[in-house]
Amino acid sequence: MAKKEKEPAGQKKCDRCGAKAAITLAYGPHHFCEKHFTDFFEKRFRKTARKYGLIRNGEKILVALSGGKDSTLLLHLLKKFYSRNHKIEALIIDEGISGYRDEAIKIAVKNCKKLGVKPKIVSFKKEFGVTNDKIMPLIFKNSKLGGTCAFCGTMRRNLMNRGAKRLGADKLATGHNLDDEAQSILMNIFNNDFERFRRTGATAGVMEHNGFVKRIKPFYETPEDEILAYCSFRGIEHFSGDCCPYSWTAKRNEYRKIIDDLEKKFPNTKFSLLRFYENLKPLLAQKKGEKKAAKKALGKCEKCGEPTEHELCMACKQVKKIIDLI
Ligand code: SF4
Ligand SMILES: [Zn+2]
Ligand SMILES: [Zn+2]
Repeated sequence: MAKKEKEPAGQKKCDRCGAKAAITLAYGPHHFCEKHFTDFFEKRFRKTARKYGLIRNGEKILVALSGGKDSTLLLHLLKKFYSRNHKIEALIIDEGISGYRDEAIKIAVKNCKKLGVKPKIVSFKKEFGVTNDKIMPLIFKNSKLGGTCAFCGTMRRNLMNRGAKRLGADKLATGHNLDDEAQSILMNIFNNDFERFRRTGATAGVMEHNGFVKRIKPFYETPEDEILAYCSFRGIEHFSGDCCPYSWTAKRNEYRKIIDDLEKKFPNTKFSLLRFYENLKPLLAQKKGEKKAAKKALGKCEKCGEPTEHELCMACKQVKKIIDLI
């Protein structure tokens, strides 16, 4: 969506100051110099937080930090704009992926030090007794266990929630951006997954229950390529190595290609999809009664204590299946 200016120097001028443009946002189209792009970006970031009521005064916000561009920039901006009245900390999940997550964690910790943020690392190995490097080859061999990212994501969400509760966080901020949301909307429609479709949004993702720490997505309205551009203009170091070695089976990759292709042909597609979803959301809330019933029925997982309707939560059930195969 955002294109670094390729025209000869001086051809495009910043909309705000007339200086040479450093970036063109095709959906405007907007042309900005570095300074006015970062101003525009930060203004939208704060506006999203206000519009969806993401952050309330005095709250402790925990950033789910991976070391990648999205969560790293999220930590920088939350520190920049909210550290006066809020406690900002970081939670790093180590899934146990050698050559990938360990490298990203080094950069995540480096950013925390630079910003004076306390990082807490929680690992699959310590909490579940098994790493992704052990799990994934078994999943490749046994398709009945589900997709690699679905499996890993369930465990990660479990640890993020447990970590957030242990650290006494009011909110868990994730780096999900506009591209992620547009992909999720489309995926949930194509999968006929009404429950997930209904629960997504800038503050959603999990059921409303006091056993779940509320998740917020301050980049809900921020395109992914603009996050990359901001990091590059402001020299924010983030992990930019090869992607996760287990991500190639992710269904999401296919939706990414479709939406990126549409965006290229019809700029603004991602924003339009999100706006359409937001217009639809009040109608989707009609099933609220069912949500309350579900809330009452939740007990605690025998193994990890997370809210669940069954003896074991989904993550512990999955881990049990895998351990039986090892
Ligand atoms: S890409 Fe998939 S397997 Fe890799 S860390 Fe992310 S969710 Fe887990
Ligand atoms: Zn300018
Ligand atoms: Zn459990």
